[in-house]
Amino acid sequence: MNRSVKKNIAFSAARRGEWIRKLSSETFDVLVIGGGITGAGIALDAVTRGMSTALIEMQDFAAGTSSRSTKLVHGGLRYLKQFEVKMVAEVGKERAIVYGNAPHVTMPEWMLLPIYRGGTFGRFTTSVGLKFYDYLAGVRREERRTMLSARETLEREPLLRRDGLLGGGYYVEYRTDDARLTIEVVKKAVEQGAAALNYVRAEGLLYDGQGQVNGVEARDMRTGEKLSIRARKVVNAAGPWVDQIREMDGSRRGKTLRLTKGVHLVFDQKRFPLRQAVYFDVPDGRMMFAIPRDGKTYVGTTDTDFAGDPSEPGVTTEDREYILRAANEMFPTLGLTVQDAESEWSGVRPLIYEEGKSPSEISRKDEIFQSPSGLITIAGGKLTGYRKMAETVTDLLVRKLTGEGRGPFGSCVTRNLPLSGGDFGGSTARMEAYVEEQASAGMEQGLTREEAERLARRYGTNVPGVFALVSEIREDALRRKVPLELYAALRYGMDEEMCTLPEDFLVRRSGALFFDVDRVSKYYRSVIDIMADANHWSEDDIRSFVRSIETKLSERGRRL
Ligand SMILES: Cc1cc2nc3c(=O)[nH]c(=O)nc-3n(C[C@H](O)[C@H](O)[C@H](O)COP(=O)(O)OP(=O)(O)OC[C@H]3O[C@@H](n4cnc5c(N)ncnc54)[C@H](O)[C@@H]3O)c2cc1C
Repeated sequence: MNRSVKKNIAFSAARRGEWIRKLSSETFDVLVIGGGITGAGIALDAVTRGMSTALIEMQDFAAGTSSRSTKLVHGGLRYLKQFEVKMVAEVGKERAIVYGNAPHVTMPEWMLLPIYRGGTFGRFTTSVGLKFYDYLAGVRREERRTMLSARETLEREPLLRRDGLLGGGYYVEYRTDDARLTIEVVKKAVEQGAAALNYVRAEGLLYDGQGQVNGVEARDMRTGEKLSIRARKVVNAAGPWVDQIREMDGSRRGKTLRLTKGVHLVFDQKRFPLRQAVYFDVPDGRMMFAIPRDGKTYVGTTDTDFAGDPSEPGVTTEDREYILRAANEMFPTLGLTVQDAESEWSGVRPLIYEEGKSPSEISRKDEIFQSPSGLITIAGGKLTGYRKMAETVTDLLVRKLTGEGRGPFGSCVTRNLPLSGGDFGGSTARMEAYVEEQASAGMEQGLTREEAERLARRYGTNVPGVFALVSEIREDALRRKVPLELYAALRYGMDEEMCTLPEDFLVRRSGALFFDVDRVSKYYRSVIDIMADANHWSEDDIRSFVRSIETKLSERGRRL
């Protein structure tokens, strides 16, 4: 088996044509449908075991659920209440692995769980529950939970309701940028030789004479052209859409998906000056997170049945009111109103249907379905467990392919495989020193220290590639009056991260439409113009991109 990394086409939007030709001309060992975290993880595992691997995504990478989560790499404390001990243990252990391989997109986040008289968790159950949680996840001694008095709890977070407060549990979780985590996994898979492309939709499955699936009929969503992609094994990792693919295969039987919607609202820190991430009780018995991030505070989530189009689940007045009520109950001095929310997002959980269970009670476990045609479907699960899920699916692929005389293929290597940008020599502690070092390099290019540090934190060990672009774009940035930091990130996205449409950059490569709407209001025209010049877009295209971003901004109450 040859594990050496193949030289690949640059992962640049300008090279789409070559990627399309590659997809339609080779027969791959594995073709993955879906470029969320699940599909990305499988592509990375498969390619690093020596399989020729392709991945297609009908929207942008992570545009489905994988950019719409609570953005935590967590074991799911609340699942202990449902006695899902094995899942909590497995996913909990994965947290440290994700952090170790990608400290630039994952960071430890201390979480405060306030305990109230008459609340879901008492002092004793919280203490035992968190201890058990740490034990299951194999948490390091210095990161194990501590129990706090009411006074200590309020010192950590003065905004909390005082009435009935008994104390708090203080324990560690990890915060991530879900979309950037996904893109770093995709980039790593591409670095290792996989062919991955966004805006390519599977529209039908192809079969051999024995009725075994051996590829897909796909459409390039940018040009409308059809292409056939051939593969020995096809994996359906289409998240909320997995049943649509099973439907194409005529194998949507037995267990099916149940979609539930989750909404988050974002507030400026000036209006919601939360110091500390908080996991709190909601009067209806659910739990909610409030998390500070980049000068903002986000709060969520709801959990309601959903039957519409998963690509734009939308946010209703009831969703907003539910979150506001819960936040105002827990942080009563704030008096938050709907006008205070500067942005919001909603996503749908692809859960496996279990009769008689309410949305919050349905298991978050993943499951693999194999159809008579050989189609492999992976559904359910969590962002946090993506690597382990990928390992299980790829083990199955190895068994199937070797049974057919392919291979040999290696064993799983992703446990200790840094993601793209996460190459800190196996030591997360090196990240801070690296950011410091790179800040000076960025300043030499004319960036401020703050800008250079921000870029180094976002791109990790890929940041020299971002800084290298500054000299190229400097003059144009001045002419267009666009900050160097923003322009360099955009160019890097277009050249190295298959950033194809303005929203790819504004939502998934930078997170700005969620966490920095002011900046988006100020620069969205320049972003569209820069991309239009590079991609030779027509006036009609430009108008439609402008309209799309303006609609999103006006939904967020921005005056343009
Ligand atoms: C509100 C909310 C909060 C959550 N919070 C957390 C959290 O904090 N931590 C955590 O670990 N997990 C969390 N989760 C769960 C986690 O986000 C999901 O389990 C995970 O993102 C699912 O990833 P996926 O790749 O399976 O699905 P997706 O990300 O939806 O990816 C599937 C992809 O397949 C593509 N696709 C569909 N059909 C086709 C086709 N025909 N051709 C090509 N491509 C296709 C879609 O466009 C989509 O991008 C949360 C989920 C929600 C909804």
